[in-house]
Amino acid sequence: MRDRLARRRQRLRARQADRFGRMAEQVHVHNPFYRAKWQAAGFDSPPTLDDLENLPFTTKAELAADQDANPPRGSNLTFPFDRYVRVHRTSGTTGKPLRWFDTPASWQWFLDCWLETYRGAGVGPDDRVFVAFGFGPFVGFWTAFEAAQQLGCLAMPGGHLSTEQRLNVIREEGATVLVATPTYGLRLLEVARQLGVDLAVSSIERTIHGGEPGAGVPAVKRQLAEGFGARVFDHAGATEVGAWGHPCGVGEHLHIFEEEFIVEWLDRTTGEPLQPLGPGASETDPTLGELVEHGPRARAGAAGASETDPTLGELVLTNLGRIGSPVVRYRTGDVGRLCAAGCPCGRPTVYLDGGVRARADDMFIVRGVNVYPSSIDAMIREVGGVAEYRATVRERRQMVEVELEVEPEPGRAAGVLRLRLQDLFQRRLSLRIPVRIAATGSLTRYELKANRFTLERP
Ligand SMILES: [Zn+2]
Repeated sequence: MRDRLARRRQRLRARQADRFGRMAEQVHVHNPFYRAKWQAAGFDSPPTLDDLENLPFTTKAELAADQDANPPRGSNLTFPFDRYVRVHRTSGTTGKPLRWFDTPASWQWFLDCWLETYRGAGVGPDDRVFVAFGFGPFVGFWTAFEAAQQLGCLAMPGGHLSTEQRLNVIREEGATVLVATPTYGLRLLEVARQLGVDLAVSSIERTIHGGEPGAGVPAVKRQLAEGFGARVFDHAGATEVGAWGHPCGVGEHLHIFEEEFIVEWLDRTTGEPLQPLGPGASETDPTLGELVEHGPRARAGAAGASETDPTLGELVLTNLGRIGSPVVRYRTGDVGRLCAAGCPCGRPTVYLDGGVRARADDMFIVRGVNVYPSSIDAMIREVGGVAEYRATVRERRQMVEVELEVEPEPGRAAGVLRLRLQDLFQRRLSLRIPVRIAATGSLTRYELKANRFTLERP
């Protein structure tokens, strides 16, 4: 069994080496951005896969600076510009949006990667897929929608509709698959409840979530699964990288599509490479459909990411099929627990246990404790009974304080909810985080990626 896995890994590595070599030859000659980077690192000829660890990392800030310095398109383009047929933009939640250009071939590559997500989730040509995103420059909507269509599904765009109208489309068309951010999945459930609609008995059989950490958080997953009466799947991708993470289908974790992406895993503080954890390191039992937490570490796992957890690292990816605008050794900012190949589903690929746990660039430090918004979010979901919340991070005289406003679900005792949340923050983070109760319906609801944390500087 182990030998067989090792042989499959070897063949995978050989395919990656071949693809990387062919890409590097074109990129080294024709792509000004990477040619300059690689030459500065001493590579006068195209690097091979064996050279990868000696190539410089690529960061989002660097790509943004390149687009500023080389307007209007930047220099990470391998082909003459008339070969490109699409441009999309990052959401710009961390700075200026990046613009990303695709050729017909690289766009098709992106869709093929998305198909792996549909396969992992068990979606087939008979499915009717409702994509509950706006119709904007965000790449996630377009790729999910077009990939569903290519799979032979009935694809339904859900842009420019109110949540109530979306619920109507789901009912009228008999949608079987919902694609949405986890935040918006929860919002659909909330509005359905207000309207007296029980989505657990709707036609939805599967939900697929991406765009933000959350679908891998056990409490969120459970809420979505119960609310929709559906199987809940995680997906991960990024405008500049492609759709790199697809659900296992057997266990509750996110495989990395290594046919198309080379994976590295880094210690965030030292920048040193980390070795994937053994397959036994999974906090979730991959043989069960439901997430099961084990042992003392499970509590920390359920709480999401904490910088003190030594098993968390940042994912670094190189894509192999987007030659027109590639990323090589890209620091994704996605933080999680990478496990070595050996999943019971039989795929020979590595996976993130519990999906993406956090975004590296969202972290803030409160009285010496490193806190990710996704940790706070996971704890709020664990307590449950919260319709919406808003966190304010205040910097005052070099002190950082967090305050939370929470809108209870109808019928929840506000005082009890406040005490339970404060108590959990104290126990898990050793922080006193004051919780204020907000009036019903007073806090902003989100359609795409939630933006619940605001930073206030004097
Ligand atoms: Zn698997």
